[in-house]
Amino acid sequence: MLKRDSMRFVAALLAVLAIFVAGPNAALDAASQHRGQVPGFYRLKVGDLEVTALFDGTGTFDPHWLNGTKATMDGVVEALHEDPHMLEVADTGFLVNTGKQLILVDAGAGTWWGGGVLGRLAGSLRSAGYTPEEVDIVLLTHLHSDHVGGLTTQDGKRVFPNADVYVAKAESDFWLAPEIAAKAPKDAQPFFQSAQAIAAPYIKAGKWHTFTGSEPIVDGMQLVPLPGHTPGHTGYEFSSKGQKILFWGDIVHALRVQLQHPEVTAVFDIDQTAAAATRLQLLPKLASEDVLIAGPHMNFPALGRLRKQGSGYSWAPVVFTDRWNENR
Ligand SMILES: [Zn+2]
Ligand SMILES: [Zn+2]
Repeated sequence: MLKRDSMRFVAALLAVLAIFVAGPNAALDAASQHRGQVPGFYRLKVGDLEVTALFDGTGTFDPHWLNGTKATMDGVVEALHEDPHMLEVADTGFLVNTGKQLILVDAGAGTWWGGGVLGRLAGSLRSAGYTPEEVDIVLLTHLHSDHVGGLTTQDGKRVFPNADVYVAKAESDFWLAPEIAAKAPKDAQPFFQSAQAIAAPYIKAGKWHTFTGSEPIVDGMQLVPLPGHTPGHTGYEFSSKGQKILFWGDIVHALRVQLQHPEVTAVFDIDQTAAAATRLQLLPKLASEDVLIAGPHMNFPALGRLRKQGSGYSWAPVVFTDRWNENR
């Protein structure tokens, strides 16, 4: 979950206005700055799979969205003075090309969350050489709008018209049940409303599918239930030629805090105790195995491995390169 950095926008606007105040000559005297960035995708190989991280945007996690002991949280606020980028997070979706099928894991926020700073995923997909029409399957880790908003336009059109969408039944049942939505606190209502609106056109087209256990959906892919953050929060582990990649959804929001302190939860975790327990169980396993992790909110390209460090963990990120590397 990300928040709009409106102050930064105002500052940027003022900077633009200042250029005009300074007059056109002053601006022309200096070499003009090119402020565009590179297209937001990065791909690597996992066995025979081509995995492409698709950038959706970035935002800043508010320290008040984290729940830890007073000492831990005081430390976070203190550290932020010296390290203002500490809680910056990405939003990312991932495309797996198996050679037979194109599978999208999470779809970014679209226009449903993030106040306009997110929603670049479909553009990143096109930059990577694919089209939304080519996507065969979408696997959803959960139904928070920063992971599913990219599926549907505000006027109810499917962005991936040929894709079959899969999500855990517990997740679908929770967010799409009018009686659960009616009982939810007022500030949680928008999450229910957007999940329902985003799912609606896929349900209508017969493209919305749920799973309850370990039913096979894609060859070489295993469902990994990771409940707590949401009732049906699910990871997807793909294996190919002895290599593994786990798409772990919202196991970690603020990597600089929650890897060092895995017991720290986020206010968006629906069951705080279960979310912490799931993380405490999963992290040691991942640190001891050679599993590549795809974490939507980790720094782009949002791919890396876990290492044990002291009482917590460190993140060994995959680093951007313009080369196609067979063994990242
Ligand atoms: Zn999220
Ligand atoms: Zn979430």
